[in-house]
Amino acid sequence: MSRKTTRAAYVTAAELDAMRQHVRKSALDKPGVYRMISPGGEVLYVGKSKRIRSRLMSYFRCDFPADKGARMLREANAIDWEYTPSEFAALLQELRLIKKFRPRFNVMMKSDGRHYAFIKLADSAAPKLLVVRAPTLDDNSVYYGPFHGAQRLGEAVRELSDALGLRDCALDTRMVFSDQPELFETPPITPGCIRYEIGKCVGPCCGASSVARYASRVSDARAFLEGRHDGPIESLREQMIVASELMNFERAASLRDKLQRLEDLREEFTRLRFAVETLSFTYTVKGFEGDDRVYVIRRGLVRAEQQKPKSRKDRTALHELVRSMFANEQPQAAPGVVPTHAIDELMLVSSWFRRHPKELKRTKPLVA
Ligand code: SF4
Repeated sequence: MSRKTTRAAYVTAAELDAMRQHVRKSALDKPGVYRMISPGGEVLYVGKSKRIRSRLMSYFRCDFPADKGARMLREANAIDWEYTPSEFAALLQELRLIKKFRPRFNVMMKSDGRHYAFIKLADSAAPKLLVVRAPTLDDNSVYYGPFHGAQRLGEAVRELSDALGLRDCALDTRMVFSDQPELFETPPITPGCIRYEIGKCVGPCCGASSVARYASRVSDARAFLEGRHDGPIESLREQMIVASELMNFERAASLRDKLQRLEDLREEFTRLRFAVETLSFTYTVKGFEGDDRVYVIRRGLVRAEQQKPKSRKDRTALHELVRSMFANEQPQAAPGVVPTHAIDELMLVSSWFRRHPKELKRTKPLVA
């Protein structure tokens, strides 16, 4: 990739104009990524464009001080850009640079614009399910997703926790299991909330559940989220049938709604798994000025990138690369679990093919 760097302070109108002239003269209308850099060297923003020159010039036309572009230019004194062979390559490079530099303006916009949510199985003595906006990399929790609709997801997670008797109290609530030695040294403990009394929690806070019993409920939750176990749905269905037979129609209707939320959740998981499983192929992208590239995509992630083979020898080398990838593949994470470091790339790749269905037709299956 070629690179052009400009470092000119443009605090004044004259300096800004000099910067504009430099971009106008030096930048080309090719795909690529760019960075806005502060005088202290902080990368403020990373962006990508199919036409770098046009994109950068548009920043200098921001008339309103509150515009995002104007705000960034006020803080930056340099723009640095590099060209990529295609728009797809620019998207990938933009993501890599954002992950590397965590630019302030990207993070601000990301939190404004993203509507994804994840189910988190929070790591603790008694793990609990909760809905979060984004995974964090600094704990041993397990994440499922991403999903659209945090509120709907929250309702489904509540049903799942209720159905399995998992706790939903604050993470720092003290847990006292029935097989914990200290239990015998303390006076009887009352549960921290009403959920134990009404049968929606097995009560790991008040010595009502053993470690193994709670762990088995957590394991059922994981199995459900990974599509291996339908227990919570079956149990709700049976309760609903019993309620109808007893002509308790109000309860039956409430159970029907709960059932629906869980079924929706299961369906969304199935869709996610399907997306991950189907995004495995080689994808040849026509490059700018003949720089065509082949991407080897496995479970929605770009595992390798190289120039499009031009000879039989190149094709054999590509085949060998795919073969070794299959041979050396790490055991798959549980279905539905996307490694946290990979979520953004998976989302980028799946949204690219959703927006460009014709491109999907140009892919070729991976053959080991
Ligand atoms: S019963 Fe105890 S463990 Fe269960 S949710 Fe309430 S406080 Fe938490």
